[in-house]
Parts: sequence; C-alpha cells; structure tokens
Amino acid sequence: MCGYSKAIKLCLLEYLMLVFMHTLYAFISNVNTGMFVLAFSSIILAVTVFFAMIVKNEKVVIALITVSSIMATTIIGYKLDTLALAIVIFVVMSTTTALLVKTSYVVYVSIATTLALIAYAIFAPEAILKGISSLLLYALYIVAYIIFEINLFVIIYYVRRYMHDIEIKTAEAESAKESKDIFLANMSHDVRTPMNAICGMAELTLREKDLPKEARENIESISNSGKVLISIVNDILDYTKLENGNVEIIPVVYSMRNLVKGIEEMVPIRMDDKRLTLETHIQEDLPDVYIGDEVRLRQILFNLLSNAIKYTENGFVTLDISGISDGGFVDFTITVTDNGIGIKKEDIPKIFNSFQHVDSHRNRETSGTGLGLCIVKKLLDLMGGSISVESTYGVGSKFTVKISQKISEETAEKTESDDEAKNEPKVNAPEGRVLVVDDNKVNLKVAQGLLKTFNLTVDIASSGHEGLEILKERKDYDIIFIDHMMPELDGIDTLKLIRADESEYMKRVPIIALTANVGTGVREMFISSGFNDYVPKPIDMKWLNGILRKYLPEDKIKM
Ligand code: ADP
Repeated sequence: MCGYSKAIKLCLLEYLMLVFMHTLYAFISNVNTGMFVLAFSSIILAVTVFFAMIVKNEKVVIALITVSSIMATTIIGYKLDTLALAIVIFVVMSTTTALLVKTSYVVYVSIATTLALIAYAIFAPEAILKGISSLLLYALYIVAYIIFEINLFVIIYYVRRYMHDIEIKTAEAESAKESKDIFLANMSHDVRTPMNAICGMAELTLREKDLPKEARENIESISNSGKVLISIVNDILDYTKLENGNVEIIPVVYSMRNLVKGIEEMVPIRMDDKRLTLETHIQEDLPDVYIGDEVRLRQILFNLLSNAIKYTENGFVTLDISGISDGGFVDFTITVTDNGIGIKKEDIPKIFNSFQHVDSHRNRETSGTGLGLCIVKKLLDLMGGSISVESTYGVGSKFTVKISQKISEETAEKTESDDEAKNEPKVNAPEGRVLVVDDNKVNLKVAQGLLKTFNLTVDIASSGHEGLEILKERKDYDIIFIDHMMPELDGIDTLKLIRADESEYMKRVPIIALTANVGTGVREMFISSGFNDYVPKPIDMKWLNGILRKYLPEDKIKM
C-alpha cells in the first residue's frame, strides 16, 4: 500500500525536523538543556518509529506520531519558550509540504495559519525576541501546534488521495497498454494461422509437377498475395510497437557484406516481371565487421530497396554504402537510388508520416500501407541515425541514410539471419524422422507436406497429450516441432513435460517451436522457455531448411 508508507514517512519526517530544530535551538541556548532535549526527543522518536514499524494500521500510527510529537514539542517548548522557533518551523514545513502536494486547499490553510502567527508576532514582538513564558503565549504556542497537526493531517489526506489517483491512473494506463499488446499478439496470431494454411497449401500445390499452367499462375497469385498480406501485418505490428516504445535496439556482431548479400538474395522476389537491374556497391577500404542491430538495419535497407523496386518499372536500382572511419566507429552514408516514378515536391514532406500513400491515383496499382518509411524513420531515430530524400517527379529518387556503427574487433558471429539469408542447398534427409504437434488440422497437413519435401519421415500429433503418448512409444525422432498456442496443454507445457522425463533422449532431443506469434523478443522467449529454436508461421522454406540443417544429425543429411 503505497499511500500508507508515504503518509507515515511524511509524518515522521515532519516530526524529525521538529525535534531536530528544537534540539539545535536547545544546544545553542544551553548545553545541559540541549542534552535533555536530545535525550528526551530521541527516546520518543525511537518509540514512535518502533510502533510505526510494527503497527500496520495507518490511522493508529498517524495518531501515535501526532500525540508523541505534540507531547514532545509541548514539553520541550515549555522548557525552552520557543514560540519564535515554532513559527519558523511551522512556516517552513507547512509551506514546503503544501507546495509539494500541490493542493490549493493545503496552500490556503498554510498561508492563513502562517499569517495568523505572523500577525501575532507583530503584535507581540517581545515574544519572538525574548521568548516570554506567559500563560497566554504558552496557550498560543499549543494552538499553533494543534493547527500544525491539523495541517499535517490535511497534507497526509491529500498526499494519500494524490498517490491513490496516481496508482489508479498508472494501473489504467498499464492495463490499456497490456490490452493493446494482447490485442496485437492475438491479431498477429489469428491472421498468421490461416495465412500459414493459405501460403503453405499454395506452396505444396505448386510443387505438383503436372499442374496446368493456368492453375499454377492462379496459385502463384494466391501465394504472392499471401506474402504481401503478411508483410502488411508485420508493418502494422512494427509500427504499433514503435509507437508504444516497445522496440529495443539489440546490438550484435555482424558482417556488413553478409548483410548486403542477404538483402540481394531477398529482393529479387519483388522484381518479378520488371525489367530492372539491382546494383550494390560497398566502399572497399571499410572494415567489414560491426556491432549494431543487424536485424533492424537489414529491415531499413530492405524497405528502401523494396520501395525503389515497387516504384520503378524499368531501369536501375542501386544500393551504395560508403563511410568515414572515426575513432572506432564508421559514419555510414547509405544511398538507395532509382530511376522510377519519383515523388512530387509537395509530397516529399509527407512521405515519412504514417499511413501516407502519396500520389495515390498514380500509385493505385501498387500495394502499401504507407507505413514503411515511417517505420524506417522511427527505427533510425532509435539507432541515432537519420534519413533524407531527394527526388524529381518522373525522373527518380535517392534516399540517403546516415548512421554510425561501431567497428568490431571480433569476427562476425553466425546469426540466425545469416542462415536465413544464405541460399543453402536444400536438405535431403531420407533417414530423418520428425514429429509435428499442432492442434490445427490444416496447419498440421501443411507442416507435414512441407517437411516431406525434405524426404523426411513425418509423424503428426494433434495435441500436446497425443504427442506425449507417441513419445512414450518411440524415442527416435531427430527433431520435434511443437505449435505454441494449443488448447489444454500448450507448446510450452508440452515441452516442459518432455524435458521433465527421466530419459536422456527426452532431455536432449531438439525441440522447435512452431509459432504464429512473431516479433521482437519472441526468439528469446522461446529459448528461455527451453526450446532450441523457433519457426515462424507462415512457414518459410528457407528458414525451415536452415533449422533442419542445424538440428538434424549430420550423418542423416545426404548430399
Ligand atoms: P507505402 O507502403 O505506400 O510504400 P511507404 O511509407 O514506404 O509506404 O512510402 C510512402 C510513400 O512514399 C509511398 O506511398 C510513395 O508514394 C512514396 N515513395 C516511397 N519510396 C519511393 C520511391 N523510391 N519512389 C517513388 N515514391 C516513393
């Protein structure tokens, strides 16, 4: 209970200051009196703090502090005649606390009582100067303290209300953010699950050798549209995460040349029927290995190149990387140039805004959410970089990214994305056997179909329980693929039960999560839950190939 501890702390603090001021004053006027006041107030303070710690009832504690502070200050005040001091303490403390709590009522009470005391001091200046112990003065002194204590209560009341409001607002904000995150995760999952079926089935059908030409073209369209839809979902997810401040820059050691090679291998898919050439150039004398967020840098460059290709019908698209080394860093200038449709002068300031798909009558044919450049800009802001554009309508565009990356002494680690980007030969494993656990029948069929193209023997289970039953019978699977979200026993629970088994096989068999939940931190989440790796849905054949190459026993992969 935040309000409780704050109120008590404030109360004790005021009390402590009160005693401290009195003690100081007592020492200044007389050492013996000072010793008495110090000893007396320390005992009362110790007793009060002790009770405040053991009694967990706020009202009792505040009453206790109040009574003991009145008692202490009254006895000490009587002995010292400290009306002047009382006024000083009162003014300083009530005003500061009133300002701290920022409530007009408390400020009003403080000012009113302070004025009353000052007025009294003006009418009886000798009391301030000499400290006379007349009965009247002593009575006023007590009144001042009572007002002080009332003031204290009012302050505590407002502090508590203030804290309570903050608690409620924080809880509301957190639950709104949480529900947004949950919504996003569900949305991504719910869209990806059927998309996995659509893209997977299309992929499987395209593998049929004697498919009529027209049917092949139709299915290719389904597959391409599926990929576009997934990239739109990814953009929306990324954009919302960036808006919520949920994107973290994760630096790794990477090779710039490998990164560019990976992008070169990824973009031709988008160049389809266009008469386009893609040229890339990296300044030769630059170091190759850096520390930075490789995944995000790839996303930025891929986005810019995809746009260049999207908005250019024929001609060229170039990616040029140059830089200047500067004390362990390279200040990169990366340009993506095309001779495509260009951007109107008046549209240039708009293109980095969200949901801006400018020049729409001309771009009607091209798909896009208008989020790509906005995401690029936000990512560069996070990475301390910048982006600018020069464009002539009808002639072409040039996007320039400026970003600084730390030079690494190490050699680049082989990352998951390198695997993904590399065009590795397709795995052929006729002796390999895998198990797939998924509750969705269509997705089970897709996974089974796709895995069979690697010549593997594929067994299936439609629930975590069924998977566990199968594993009781046979322990010769080279890899187990488990869907993440399943009713009753989900992927993580199933994994835990497998790993909890006593046999050595169950403890070490590679288990890969199949998941429609993607995004930053997902890989870390699966690895920390005990999975060896994960495959996002819709299943990408290159990704799957990389996983099989990594986790199948070497002797089972035939050339
Ligand atoms: P979209 O999804 O519409 O491509 P972007 O944020 O990536 O969204 O781009 C915003 C707008 O900027 C696009 O709609 C397009 O009009 C313009 N644009 C971006 N890159 C280029 C380019 N290389 N050539 C011409 N226009 C471009």
